[in-house]
Amino acid sequence: MATDERYQRGPDEQVELWASTPFFLMHLAPLGMIWFAPRWRDVALCLALYVVRMFFITAGYHRYFGHRAYKLGRFAQLVMALGGATAAQNGPLWWAGHHRHHHKHSDLPTDIHSPRRGLFWSHVGWILCSKYAQTPTAAIRDFAKYPELVWVDRYHLVPPLLLAVAVLAIGGPSALFMGFFLSTVLLYHGTFVINSLTHLWGRRRYRTTDTSRNSFLLAIITLGEGWHNNHHYYQSSARQGFFWWELDLSYYVLRALSWIRIVRDLREVPEHVRRSNLVVDGERDVGLELPGAAE
Ligand SMILES: [Zn+2]
Ligand SMILES: [Zn+2]
Repeated sequence: MATDERYQRGPDEQVELWASTPFFLMHLAPLGMIWFAPRWRDVALCLALYVVRMFFITAGYHRYFGHRAYKLGRFAQLVMALGGATAAQNGPLWWAGHHRHHHKHSDLPTDIHSPRRGLFWSHVGWILCSKYAQTPTAAIRDFAKYPELVWVDRYHLVPPLLLAVAVLAIGGPSALFMGFFLSTVLLYHGTFVINSLTHLWGRRRYRTTDTSRNSFLLAIITLGEGWHNNHHYYQSSARQGFFWWELDLSYYVLRALSWIRIVRDLREVPEHVRRSNLVVDGERDVGLELPGAAE
């Protein structure tokens, strides 16, 4: 996979172990459950905080800030930014700016986290490297003009800290270890598989110039982001499951929010686009109609 030397990482593209200590400690924190046995309500909290925060990441950080796939008022935009930040995956401008770079350079040697540069690197290594720690402001100027978003981006640790304190105060230590720490770690890897596995696992429907794939399993754990080949093919759509059987929970919630006018101008994939550039599967981009693709 990484035999092409153009994809080799430079000396400044290494995981920095010492600087990554907080990230590794976050993975050890759920072990606190050994001393504070979780109760059923802690399990429920873990699941709820996973689902709600995954929604903020996929619908907010990704589809809104990354792709402007729909419109929000200024207050709802701030709520989306704060909600995404509670997942402890850096600020919205950092996250979406790097993501736009990924779409611009998908699987080229300049793509920061293409799996062609190594599976671990694409999953998490690049995040643990100081070279990519800064917010790429030039890529996200449209949102960097809002001072409140710049604030959230700079102080991105405040929302997850406040959430952790609230969980501890209300639910006690077992809620903190399982409800907050475990769900945060699961959320990390649930999100990171979009950069690693969705370029390796699954099937291709559309002819794209990258290795993106569609996976039902990954769509479940990411609330709809597993339809990554669809997404690379037509990235401005708020809907990533292009057919009715392609489960896309984030889109369903956005649709419901559009009924009460919190969300406006939800962008969809045009019918003629959805039905063209089909391939049987990725390795054979021969432009044949996909059997069963017609509804
Ligand atoms: Zn991708
Ligand atoms: Zn995207």
